[in-house]
Amino acid sequence: QKARLVINEARSKGATEVVEFQAQEVLRAYNLPTPNTGLARSSDEAVAAADKIGYPVVLKIASPQISHKSDVGGVKVNLADAEAVRNAFFDITARAQRMRPEAYIAGCLVQEMAPKGCKEIIIGFKRDDQFGPLLMFGLGGIYVEILKDIAFRLAPLGRDDAKGIIREIKSYMLLKGVRGEQPVNFQAIEDILITMSELALDFPEIVEAEFNPVLVNAEKAVVADVRITLS
Ligand code: ADP
Ligand code: MG
Repeated sequence: QKARLVINEARSKGATEVVEFQAQEVLRAYNLPTPNTGLARSSDEAVAAADKIGYPVVLKIASPQISHKSDVGGVKVNLADAEAVRNAFFDITARAQRMRPEAYIAGCLVQEMAPKGCKEIIIGFKRDDQFGPLLMFGLGGIYVEILKDIAFRLAPLGRDDAKGIIREIKSYMLLKGVRGEQPVNFQAIEDILITMSELALDFPEIVEAEFNPVLVNAEKAVVADVRITLS
């Protein structure tokens, strides 16, 4: 219901992308794990949000026109104290304004930092006119373009499909852990895959969605970045 409201609102504005802060609402409505996040319109608000969330935090540019945030230097991780947050806020917003003068800058998202040692994976789907939603799973972050180690499955995904798509990638062993590392929480990844398949079937107007990265360790998985594209 909440998810429907968010999608409808984005569409009524004629947007083809749901802004990140709103997209997180959609994820929460589906019980998907998202990091604690606040929207700050000033450096004071950013510090207040970080104090509340607890350090270290991540700051990300918040602008409906900027969806690839790192491209404009729009993400700073591991900010350890109020001063670092304040500086990052000025830095990120000033740089974004300079690089994208046409963009409306709402401020910055202040986000809980995922624990060290998480692995980055990518979970997404693209809607095929003929076959419907095609789910995608792979190693995320900087590796996804280089390794092209991605597996696909058509929706709907059940538990066995989710297990299967995870095992299909070549980097599966990395997720199982090497040299005495603990395996990641596979069930948490399966849950996200299955839920994304449900989301894809519930909202035909979503043509594409991408969680990149999902940060996962032995305990849990969290969706640290989300892009939802509408028709
Ligand atoms: P974009 O993809 O728009 O450039 P992201 O939100 O994906 O921006 O952030 C870029 C990178 O920063 C991620 O791939 C991840 O490595 C790191 N990152 C983002 N959010 C977090 C977080 N909450 N905790 C830890 N690392 C993060
Ligand atoms: Mg990303």
